[in-house]
Amino acid sequence: MADSNNTEEIQEFEYKAEMKQLLHLIVHSLYTHPEVAIRELISNASDALHKIRFRQLTDKNILNPEAPLRIDIAVDSNAQTFSITDTGIGMTRDDLTERIGTVASSGTLEFLERMKEGDTPFDANLIGQFGIGFYSVFMLTNEITIETRHADADSKGFRWQSTGEGKFTIKEIERLQRGTQISFKLKDESKEFSQSYRVEQVITKYSNFVDFPVSVNGKQVNTVSALWHKNRNEVTEEERNEFYKFISNDLNPPLGHLHLSLEGRVNFRALMFIPETQPLRFLREEDLSSLHLYSSKVFIQDDCKELLPEYLRFISGVVDTEDLPLNVSREVTQSSPVMARIQETLTGRILSLLEDWAKDDSEKYEKFFRNFGLLFKTGLSSDFVNRDRLLELLRFESTKTESDKFTSLKDYVAGMSEDQQEIYYLSGDSREAVERNPNLEYFRKGGIEVLFFIDPVDLFNIPHLLEYEGKPLKSIEKADIDLKTDEESQDETLIEDTNLIAIFKETLGDRVEDVVASKRLVDSAATLVVGAEGMDAHMERMMKMMNQDFTGSKRILELNFSHPLIRNLAQLNQSQGDETLIKNCILQLYEGALLVDGNTVDPPTFVARMTEIMERATN
Ligand code: ADP
Repeated sequence: MADSNNTEEIQEFEYKAEMKQLLHLIVHSLYTHPEVAIRELISNASDALHKIRFRQLTDKNILNPEAPLRIDIAVDSNAQTFSITDTGIGMTRDDLTERIGTVASSGTLEFLERMKEGDTPFDANLIGQFGIGFYSVFMLTNEITIETRHADADSKGFRWQSTGEGKFTIKEIERLQRGTQISFKLKDESKEFSQSYRVEQVITKYSNFVDFPVSVNGKQVNTVSALWHKNRNEVTEEERNEFYKFISNDLNPPLGHLHLSLEGRVNFRALMFIPETQPLRFLREEDLSSLHLYSSKVFIQDDCKELLPEYLRFISGVVDTEDLPLNVSREVTQSSPVMARIQETLTGRILSLLEDWAKDDSEKYEKFFRNFGLLFKTGLSSDFVNRDRLLELLRFESTKTESDKFTSLKDYVAGMSEDQQEIYYLSGDSREAVERNPNLEYFRKGGIEVLFFIDPVDLFNIPHLLEYEGKPLKSIEKADIDLKTDEESQDETLIEDTNLIAIFKETLGDRVEDVVASKRLVDSAATLVVGAEGMDAHMERMMKMMNQDFTGSKRILELNFSHPLIRNLAQLNQSQGDETLIKNCILQLYEGALLVDGNTVDPPTFVARMTEIMERATN
């Protein structure tokens, strides 16, 4: 409300004290992007057009019923002026005094004062949220003129003017057209907004999908219509792909899309895309997502992190909801239960789409997984609600897949023999590295599938992957695996009579937890495995990389008594042969196994010992 100071023709009004303070604050104290003011103007014009469009549905008796619904911006860089004209609902005299002249909510000023004192930069979106977006225009200019006429057939035209300093005036004018024109001369520091290219930039960024044509100096700027508001079958593939390219900057068409229109517990429309390839922009974290949030076709924010969980951030697209207030701040989107519900629903729909691919088009699914599996798999340690669905969607390379091909846990279990109780895996840096691991030999020979955990994220997922369909997952580097061997291959007499294990233990001392006869080795002489409490060699190396002081657990050394070298050593020991040679061989076998596991040993010592062994062997 404002105090009227009536004169005959021009009415002068004084802003209330609170409003004055507020204006001062907006113009002088709050740091924000001035381009936001342009967006606010377009957003208000678009609102006004929405209102008249709605009214037209039921009321034929309005001013200029034939006028096209549009927004025209005119700039003049010489005169440094800007004006925006819409054919919307327009404003009555009361609108001008009540809506333009007052602060919408009473706590606004107090809140903004606190913002000013705090050290967080002011979020420009708040301006809109408090219903004071219009005043952000005073960042650009010292004086605003509004000329407007309401859509009521018997309405009158008015001119509103204000320098934002404390007063505004209203004058009745001759105006034929329905709608509003807002014009001003730009301050020197904002004169960029009298350049048409600069205004076009702002429109493309913030208002490209506004539902009405927006033109700058006669040229229409927003070319892309709100595709997500159309019915699914009204949108051609070509249109959709164009739109995808536009929002994602990806040159390729997407691998797939989701077009949703939901009503009920949460109301929103969404058009989401899964890229065909990892876009280049993916390399930069800040470019990871191009998820745009709209509220009733008006752009709210890009890269809206609250729309999807982190592990689905390879998706780009648009979500448009009427459940949020039109001008909603980032703070509000972060904490809004509406956003949480949208996220929940969207996540479910995207998982369904992926499930369909996995079921009907495994090639497509694998393509997706190859590109985005790394990120997608992190969902297992963050999205516990969808854990079971995510488990089904996981893919792994294994001893039974070719390189770069995948198997699922379900297929793994289907391929298990009756007496296999556990799901086996082996972790390592790469497929090549795990393929060389001697612990695989037993499983290869027995045709038992072993999953390869060769992405770093697989390791972090292990704690969340304890079992599947009641079958525990087990690293084949663990000592306590129930390995079945045919009796003949176990040369018990050789093991017991030769005392070889005892001399191994004596030589290695507390470097190992234990030394045992192996059931898992076929071609290799020795391997290191992990005791019940220890972690996988690969995991341990990662821990060491992250924490210098991390000391791993001791390993168990397993010996292959069918290997010629172990047999020779056993006999040599039994016949009390060259003790130095035996001990050197033991140390060499141990350190060799360490090396295979990706650990380091002291090269000079290793080489000196090897030289000595070769010298004796050639003697
Ligand atoms: P908000 O848009 O959040 O309400 P603003 O300060 O931006 O806050 O605008 C205040 C009010 O002024 C709007 O709610 C609307 O009633 C009126 N208004 C602003 N611009 C226009 C316009 N172009 N046409 C009609 N009414 C407008």
